[in-house]
Amino acid sequence: MNDRPARIHPTADVSPEAIIGPGTSIWNQAQVRERARIGEGCVIGKNAYIDTDVRIGDRVKIQNNVSVYHGVTIEDGVFIGPHVCFTNDKVPRAVNPDGSAKSDLDWDVSPTLVRVGAALGANSTILPGITIGRWAMIGSGSVVTRDVEDYALAVGNPARRIGSACPCGQPLRNDADGRPFAGACPRCGDAFPPLPAAGQE
Ligand SMILES: [Zn+2]
Repeated sequence: MNDRPARIHPTADVSPEAIIGPGTSIWNQAQVRERARIGEGCVIGKNAYIDTDVRIGDRVKIQNNVSVYHGVTIEDGVFIGPHVCFTNDKVPRAVNPDGSAKSDLDWDVSPTLVRVGAALGANSTILPGITIGRWAMIGSGSVVTRDVEDYALAVGNPARRIGSACPCGQPLRNDADGRPFAGACPRCGDAFPPLPAAGQE
C-alpha cells in the first residue's frame, strides 16, 4: 500500500468530485473531471485530460497531452505514451441532420478497456469500443480499429498484429509459419506466453 499523499501541481485542474489515490502525481495543467477515479502510484502528465467517470488503476503512467475520454477504463500498470488519443464516437457529427446541435443524449458511448500491463505508443489513436489485451504493445502512431489480443504487438493504420511482446518489453517475432512466438524470452528468460495468474483466464 502506498501511503504517500497525492501530489497535484498548483496549475492542474482536479475536480473535487474526482478520487485520486495516494502516491499519484498530477502534473502541470492536467485536467481531471468529475467522478474520475485514479488509483495509487500513477503519473498523469502535463496537459493530460481525464474525462468524467473514467476509471484508472494503480501504477499507470499517462504521458503529456493524452486525452482519456468518457467510457474508457484503464487497468493497473498501463503505459500510455505522449499524445495518445482515445475516441468515444465512431461516427461523430456535431449536428443532427436538421442542423440542430447534438447533445450528450444524441450519442451512445462505446466503452473502451485497456487491460493490465498494456503499453500504447506515442501518438496512437484508439477507436471506440475496443479492448486492448493484457501486456499488449501498440506501436507509435498506430490507429487501433479492432480488439488487440493479450501479449500482441500491433502496429500501423489499421493496427495489425506483427508479433508478440513479453511483459519485460521484449518484442517477439512470430515463427516461420506466422504463429505467435512460444518459448523462453531471449531477454528475461521467462516462459512465453506466461501462464495466467490465479483469478485470470
Ligand atoms: Zn521477457
